[in-house]
Amino acid sequence: MVMEPITLQDIEHWLRETDEKALEMLWARADEVRQAAVGHEVHLRGLIEISNYCVRRCAYCGLAAGNRTIERYRMTREEILECALKAVRLGYGTVVMQGGEDYGIEADWLADIIVEIKKQTPLAVTLSLGERPDEELKLWKRAGADRYLLRFETSDPHLYELIHPSLPGKKSDRFEILRRLQQLGYEAGSGVMIGIPGQTYATLARDIHIFSSMDLDMIGVGPFIPSPNTPLGRGEIQFDIDPSEQVPNTEMMTYKTVALTRLVRPDANIPSTTALATINKESGREFGLMRGANVVMPNLTPVQYREKYEIYPGKACINETAEQCSGCLRGRIASIGRTVGTGQGGRVKRPT
Ligand code: SAH
Repeated sequence: MVMEPITLQDIEHWLRETDEKALEMLWARADEVRQAAVGHEVHLRGLIEISNYCVRRCAYCGLAAGNRTIERYRMTREEILECALKAVRLGYGTVVMQGGEDYGIEADWLADIIVEIKKQTPLAVTLSLGERPDEELKLWKRAGADRYLLRFETSDPHLYELIHPSLPGKKSDRFEILRRLQQLGYEAGSGVMIGIPGQTYATLARDIHIFSSMDLDMIGVGPFIPSPNTPLGRGEIQFDIDPSEQVPNTEMMTYKTVALTRLVRPDANIPSTTALATINKESGREFGLMRGANVVMPNLTPVQYREKYEIYPGKACINETAEQCSGCLRGRIASIGRTVGTGQGGRVKRPT
């Protein structure tokens, strides 16, 4: 299919589009581009939420330091390795170890776990542990980690600083860390939230446009879901934007963002996220997959920790065992005529 490159203006236009017939065209185009570039397989990435401790005070996140309403946990080495073996048994090609920015996760300790997973399994290892120092990212790469996920959350620097305050003495620059991760040889993933208070259509359009220039392997986009024990959830931050410019944190806006992300980055791995499944538990996952996505992330976290990893409330799949989550997602994938990918499901390299 020959297509015009999509411009920043086109993206903003689509984000504001409300005509159902026009949107049907967008979904169809995203689905075609997905099929042509990455095929019909849906890759499963097993998610292990290894710790909910965090040093940061992000205004959107329920795990932020200072939130005393959640009980903190950190998984043990044995528990993590057990989850990795379960990932293999369930037929997943990747595990994603995610957590708060928790320096109680010591670099050497985690490096040993990565070595062990790589020794015992054929899994790709993905990390998503916040803004850890360069030395640690290097150490984990040498230990065998393959990928790192770090969403830049929004490309508006003013909004970013408001919702993601820097630690004292160190300006938070996720774009810089992403470049560094790529230099170190990681496959890098990033993304944004949709409908953050203070996020305008122009900003979200720019976020999507920026995806096209970053050579990302994975791009995750999901709706912002207010978390009651956070400054954003309590409505404590004031924004001086025209209300008509505010992006809504809706299901529809999420589909538009998924579809446009596919159009600007045909070969990226794009998940149909848990946040999307949370705002439409019936069929959010399926619609995401039908409108550009090609990855889902079944939860492997032991059930006793699940509800403590409360980034936002009402998270989908919270009461399921890993086995149930796998069965449910496989059923959903089959119901839309797609197949589950085998192997690590890494980046589909563009023909040169
Ligand atoms: N500590 C890691 C992992 C954070 S959780 C990090 O900061 O990178 C992964 C993602 O969940 C975040 O990057 C953010 O985009 C998303 N998230 C956090 N709070 C959210 C909320 N209230 N609603 C929707 N998504 C949220």
